[in-house]
Amino acid sequence: MFRSLKATILDSNLNIVNSEVVHFDSELPHYKTKDGVYRDPSNNGRIVSPTLMWVEAFDLLLEKLTKLKLDFGRIAAVSGSGQQHGSVYWKKGSSVKLASLDSKKQLLEQLNDVFSTNESPIWMDCSTTSQCKEIEKAVGGALELARLTGSRAYERFTGPQIRKIFETKPDVYRETERISLVSSFMASILIGAYASIDETDGAGMNLMDIRERSWSKIVLEATAPGLEEKLGKLVPAHAVAGPIAFYFVNRFNFNKDCLVVQWSGDNPNSLAGLTLNTPGDLAISLGTSDTVFGIASEPHPRLEGHVFPNPVNTKGYMVMLVYKNGSLTREDVRNRCAEQSWDTFNNLLEKTPPLNGGKLGFYYKEHEILPPLPVGFHRFVLENFTGDSLDGLKEHEVGEFDGPSEVRAVIEGHFLSMRAHAERFGMPTPPKRIIATGGASANPSILKSVASIFGSDVYTVQRPDSASLGAALRAAHGWVCHSKGCFVPFSCMYENKLEKTSLSSKLSMPAGDPQLLSNYTLLMKKRIEIEDRLVQKLGR
Ligand code: ADP
Repeated sequence: MFRSLKATILDSNLNIVNSEVVHFDSELPHYKTKDGVYRDPSNNGRIVSPTLMWVEAFDLLLEKLTKLKLDFGRIAAVSGSGQQHGSVYWKKGSSVKLASLDSKKQLLEQLNDVFSTNESPIWMDCSTTSQCKEIEKAVGGALELARLTGSRAYERFTGPQIRKIFETKPDVYRETERISLVSSFMASILIGAYASIDETDGAGMNLMDIRERSWSKIVLEATAPGLEEKLGKLVPAHAVAGPIAFYFVNRFNFNKDCLVVQWSGDNPNSLAGLTLNTPGDLAISLGTSDTVFGIASEPHPRLEGHVFPNPVNTKGYMVMLVYKNGSLTREDVRNRCAEQSWDTFNNLLEKTPPLNGGKLGFYYKEHEILPPLPVGFHRFVLENFTGDSLDGLKEHEVGEFDGPSEVRAVIEGHFLSMRAHAERFGMPTPPKRIIATGGASANPSILKSVASIFGSDVYTVQRPDSASLGAALRAAHGWVCHSKGCFVPFSCMYENKLEKTSLSSKLSMPAGDPQLLSNYTLLMKKRIEIEDRLVQKLGR
C-alpha cells in the first residue's frame, strides 16, 4: 500500500483466486498525489499522504470486488499490509463514529471528519532529524535506542514523527485520542473499533521494547507526554483483531463470523509472502535497492539495519538490512565494463575465478547506509591471496581494476558485505536456504556467486506482490490459530503442498563447494576489516 491498494484472495489450497487493485494517482486524481504522496514544495523533507484517500480507495476496492461478483460471504478471514511507519491520528470521539457506520453509505462520507490531521506522515518523510537526535539523547544514545527498540532513530519511524506533531502542532496532538499505524488503521475500519498495533509493525516506531514486545516507558517519555494511552495495546501478528463490523456484513454480505486478523507492515508481510518462517531462512531482494530479510533466534541490534519481532512466530526475530547501492550500481559497472549488456557482464563474471585473485571493490555510486559511507569507489588488492590463510597478507589500494575483475568485484564485494552484516545480526552461515527475488534474481551468474558466498541453495520467486500475498497468508494463519485455540507454526499451513500453491519457488542454484565457502569466509573477514576502516575514516 504505497501507490495502490490491492486485494489478493486465496482459496483454502492457498492459491490466488482473485485480485483487484486501486491506483491512487490515476483512479483518485482529485487528491492530486504523485506516487500516492505529497512532497512539501518547500523541500523540507516533509512527505505525507492524504488519510482520506486511503479510505476512499477502500470504498472503491470493495466496489470493484463486488463487480467481480466476489462472494464475500465465503471469506473466512481478512488481514492486510500497510506501509510500515506511516501513521493516522484519530480525533477525540471518533471511536463512536467508527462503531456506528451506516451500511447504506460509503465509508468516505462517514469518516471524513474523524482525523485530527488529514495528512499522514509516511515512510518517505525525512523531516524529523532534530526529533531523532532529541530522542536518542534522552535514552542514552543511538546504540542504546537500537538495543532497546531494534533500530536507532530514523526520520521515517513513527516515534520521531509523533514527537514532531507534539512539538509543532500541539493542538493536533492534544485532540488525538488514538494513533494508528496505516496497518492498524485499516484493521480498525474493518472491525469498527480501534485495532491494536501488531508487534512487528510496532517495532518500526522506535517505541517498542524489542525483547519484551511492549511499549518502552523510557522511550515513550522521551517522545511525547501521555503517549501510551493514545497507542493502545500491542498484540502478535497472528492475533484476531476482532470479528468483521456489521457495516461489511450488511453492505457486502460478509459472513458475520469472518475474522479480521491483525494487519501488519509491508516488510513483515513480504517476509511472510516469501515463505520465510524458521530461524536461518534468508531472503534477498535484488531491486533498485537491495533488501535482506532473515529470521534470527536472538536479537543483535546494531547502528545500521533493523531488528523486528518475527511476524510469523511468537519467538525469534526478523532482521532487515537495506542497501542503497543495488541494481543501479551493478548497472553502472555493466555500462562501463560490459557494453551495457547483462550477457557480456555474465561472460566476464564467468571468465574470472572466484575470489577474484584477492581483488576487493567497494562501490558506492549512491551515498550508502549499510555501511554509512559517502559516494565513492575504493579498490584493494590482497597480495598473494590464495584463500587458505590471511596470515601475513597485506593489501594495497589501487585506482582501477581491469574490466572483468571490476565485474567480479562489484558482485563478490556486495554479497560478501551482505553475508558479513547478516552474520553480525545473528544470521547463521550457511543460511537454511536463500530465497532470491527482484530484477537481478533473474541472472544465473549472479545467483551462482550468491550460492558460493553464502554456501546455500538459492531458490527464486518472482513475486512483485509479496506483501499483499503475505497478508492473505497471514489471514489464513490467524484463522488456523484461532480455530485450534493456540499458536500453530506458520509452515503447517503449506507443509508438503508448497509446490502446488501460489507460493511455490524454484531451486535455481545449488550451494557451492564447501572449500570455496571457507575461502570466501577469509575474504569476507578481510573485507569487513577494510570496510570498518573506511567507515572510521570517511563515515558520518
Ligand atoms: P524495483 O526495486 O524498482 O521494483 P526490480 O526488482 O524490478 O526493481 O529490479 C529492477 C532492476 O533489476 C533493474 O534496475 C535492473 O538493473 C535489474 N536487472 C534486470 N535484469 C537483470 C539481469 N539479467 N541481471 C542483473 N540485473 C538485472
